Amino acid sequence: VPAARPCYPQTVLLSDIRGQNPAIAALERALATDRTAHAYLFDGPSGVGKQRAAVALGLAALCPEKPGKGCGRCAVCMRILAGNHPDVRVFCPRDEGARNLQVETLRSDILPVAQFAPFEGRQAFLIFPDADISFPEQHPEAANALLKTLEEPRPRVHFILLSARPDRLLVTIRSRCQRVRFGRLPPLVLEHVLENAGVAQAEWETAIALSDGRADRALAMAEGGTGKHLLERALVIDAALERGSPGRLIGLSEELAKAQDLPLIVEMLTIFYRDVAASALGVARRGLLLASEQERVSEQARKIGAARASARVRELGQLGELFAKNANPQITLDHLLLALRRVS
Ligand SMILES: [Zn+2]
Repeated sequence: VPAARPCYPQTVLLSDIRGQNPAIAALERALATDRTAHAYLFDGPSGVGKQRAAVALGLAALCPEKPGKGCGRCAVCMRILAGNHPDVRVFCPRDEGARNLQVETLRSDILPVAQFAPFEGRQAFLIFPDADISFPEQHPEAANALLKTLEEPRPRVHFILLSARPDRLLVTIRSRCQRVRFGRLPPLVLEHVLENAGVAQAEWETAIALSDGRADRALAMAEGGTGKHLLERALVIDAALERGSPGRLIGLSEELAKAQDLPLIVEMLTIFYRDVAASALGVARRGLLLASEQERVSEQARKIGAARASARVRELGQLGELFAKNANPQITLDHLLLALRRVS
């Protein structure tokens, strides 16, 4: 049996997974009634716990110490968590090259496991992170091989497909899977994640504001003070809009067009003006994403008001669309800064 690639991090029980109550409750119910589906599609943004939940489901099903829950400490649990148990296997897409699972890998590694498992436990779980990348609709060879396996379910073998973009999977694959939805994580859960990762509290606010409810993104934005740096850059733009002449704005735009993290700066500026609009509408400090900038937020709220702040949010949103279409960043920014200036 080829070794599973352990691409999941730490001890995890279903009960450890926070902020996903409906999904976890559905899985616990299935375990308790012995109705675990033959194939699941865990659908939701990356970094919200889909893979942890998939491994935790396998662990709960196989743990002999605490059946239906998992203990995280016995020999079976330890092997699962180390990626060494033949009945709980994680198949990540290839990092390099075509990015899909090669059909040879499917034939040599995955299908035989599906055919002969479970090897040691009562059940087996085959987990596919980024299933839309492993089995993309436009490379139907691997997808069709998987489909064939899903169409001939073997008892006690469970497939768990994880995807942030399930619309990129074949409809025929999706329809074979029971869908479990994973949502964005609330701020309190993200604080817990950052705290556990040893991130200084001073970094939490900007990291969570930019996180889009995803733990992976919150951690990336906290790293090296990225979020705070982005906020500084965004506030420079805001200050230039208040005071700058059109000439100075074009100078700023030339500088910004070279910034590698421009989309993130724009996102942070959008968050700032959303807070300005909220503050102008009477939202209290605790309702702001950037609560520690409350003074500046409320000063701007008095100056420009909710309507102009939300007009700026709209202009910035259009900029994001233009970037996505690969518009010339310099020209796009010139237009944007002058347009923002008009709504000030
Ligand atoms: Zn155990």
